[in-house]
Amino acid sequence: MENNYDVAVIGSGIAGMTSALYLKRFGLNPVIIEKSVPGGQINRSALVENYPGLSNIDGPTLAANIFSQIMELGITYKNARVKKIIDNKNIKKIILDNGEVDVKAVIIATGRHTKELGLENEKTLTGRGVSWCAICDGYFFKNHEVAVVGGGDSAFEETLFLSKICKKIYLIHRRDTYKASLNLQNKIRNLENVELITNSNIIEINEKDNKLSNIVIENLDKKRTTLEVSGLFIYIGSVPDTQIFKELNILDEKGYIIVDKNYETSIRGIYACGDVIEKDLYQLTTAVGEASQAAYNLKKSYFS
Ligand code: NAP
Repeated sequence: MENNYDVAVIGSGIAGMTSALYLKRFGLNPVIIEKSVPGGQINRSALVENYPGLSNIDGPTLAANIFSQIMELGITYKNARVKKIIDNKNIKKIILDNGEVDVKAVIIATGRHTKELGLENEKTLTGRGVSWCAICDGYFFKNHEVAVVGGGDSAFEETLFLSKICKKIYLIHRRDTYKASLNLQNKIRNLENVELITNSNIIEINEKDNKLSNIVIENLDKKRTTLEVSGLFIYIGSVPDTQIFKELNILDEKGYIIVDKNYETSIRGIYACGDVIEKDLYQLTTAVGEASQAAYNLKKSYFS
């Protein structure tokens, strides 16, 4: 068992890495615990919009830059899967798949993962035409016709990215108004190789020779259309990664973590920030703000 750390930060997306940076600057010894790679969801973002001062950076580069800061500060980065947190009042025991860590406090920043359409073939064709990451897979579809599904900022941003690579993009949305920012909507509406399809749902994902061959969409009048596309990019929102925290009774009905104004949960010493918490605005800027504030509040309450 390891017990030389003050605080465990679970998750190394933008929120987790930011809170660890601040904890370190406040003189504490945090450990970041991550089951995957640094950066989280931002690694799937082709272009970061709405972050002041950063007008032309992609998600993976931003994530790598923050990770370099983590390494430069000598923060411990542990690759492990958290199984459970046991709250023994002043000590929180973090059970990992490869050990245990005892700390005085925890910041949960496990973020969210992308939703699936729930259609047949969706999973089996992942990597064979179906994708959740335009920046990772977009170049496989150079000069091809592809479809993007969703009506939020993610769908629009990634369509913008794909429009520079692909011959044509069908942007399919189930309603006729969008959640995406007006700025992004205007950019997309000006593109000749993007066709906006509204009031339509994808009802079939079809394959030929083990690759995506076409999708079938259905509109409100039940009229079906087949689109011959070799790529389908799914951006229909996200669900919080909080399954392992269910027993702690800190989740709302949708699975988001409930925090107070200090970013502390109903369990003393357990904080949360970023996309994993229940809030109004899910942005990089809000994640960074919450993460630094959570680190500050935690330090003030438990290490002063
Ligand atoms: P989102 O805003 O929740 O949008 C999801 C979209 O997918 C909605 O248009 C929704 O339709 C649609 N949808 C949901 N379930 C569906 C289904 N089963 N079938 C078809 N369509 C479905 O998700 P997001 O775009 O990933 O954005 C998440 C958050 O991150 C937002 O707060 C967003 O502002 C933020 N974000 C910000 C930026 C940026 O600032 N540049 C970039 C990316 C994301 P309805 O509209 O009908 O519900």
